[in-house]
Amino acid sequence: MDFLTLLLIYLCFVLAAVALLCICSGRKESFLARRVSGASQVLSCVIPTQLRRVTHGALHRLFHTRSRLFVVLHIALQAAVFGEYTWEVFVYCWELQFHLLLLLLPYLLLAANLGCFLLCSQANPGVITKSNHASLVQVYAYDGVLFQKGIVCPTCNVEKPARSKHCSFCSVCVHRFDHHCVWVNNCIGAFNAGYFFLYLFTLTAVAAAVASITAALLVHVVLLSNLMQGSYLDDQGQEHAVEILFLVQHLFLTFPRIVFMLGFVTLLTLVLGAYSSFTLYLALTNQTSNEWYKSRRYGCSPHLTAQPRASRVAYRNVYSKGVWKNLKEIFKPPTVLESKKKT
Ligand SMILES: [Zn+2]
Ligand SMILES: [Zn+2]
Repeated sequence: MDFLTLLLIYLCFVLAAVALLCICSGRKESFLARRVSGASQVLSCVIPTQLRRVTHGALHRLFHTRSRLFVVLHIALQAAVFGEYTWEVFVYCWELQFHLLLLLLPYLLLAANLGCFLLCSQANPGVITKSNHASLVQVYAYDGVLFQKGIVCPTCNVEKPARSKHCSFCSVCVHRFDHHCVWVNNCIGAFNAGYFFLYLFTLTAVAAAVASITAALLVHVVLLSNLMQGSYLDDQGQEHAVEILFLVQHLFLTFPRIVFMLGFVTLLTLVLGAYSSFTLYLALTNQTSNEWYKSRRYGCSPHLTAQPRASRVAYRNVYSKGVWKNLKEIFKPPTVLESKKKT
């Protein structure tokens, strides 16, 4: 099996894993959780109790408490990509007389991305405390479907304001809770949703810029070396004109680190691009990820069949105020004063 086949299998595996995670993310309670608990039950028969406790504790800490592990992984991946970009891609592009500003663009985007990352991870997402509860509870109206008046958080012991949710990672209730992001090690709520939005878009731009410049470099190399006009001999000694698969294999063997990095950042651009588009859709329609996920149980969703007929309620997003105002709300969350002015 040659290296190209191995690479294709690896890419298919990664894509299948990403697709599976995306499909399962919407129904993790019913599908993924069942599979995980099933697997842990099988493992519990073969792993000694002591080791099981340690493993369970480590996995619980990793996936159910705040952990810097993903932040470290995030920075390590960025360092690896930019190390390769600086060490090889930048140097070759410079020799091929690419414009300096174009070559510096990924660094500028990276600086902006790191700024958004720091702001997003350090900001208070909107933790609900005894002192700010009275004002936050007045910001959004209860829609009576996803958010009911009078529900008390058993951990924080406060009445949950509309659009808030208790985060099991941080063990606090968060105002306009979106989700807990392990990559920034913080909740995404009313007061850092704008930073997260910019962080995600700059990260996508970083990946897209590095991918485009690297792809441009390889296209330049192919054009300059007239590889496409050449031919090669196969294992049986027959001559063939150079085709795309041979070209990819040739480039991989000549620039292994560059082609591997290009594959990684291209995949990242596609995944991040899809997630950014979804986040933009949520921002334009004034929904949080939490609300989008919960609302799928209402309306025409197939999940509706899991509920008794009597409990079915039509869901309507009462928080949308039009595309422009919705987008503005991400960067400038409404205060009590503003919501009072409107009523
Ligand atoms: Zn709580
Ligand atoms: Zn959290």
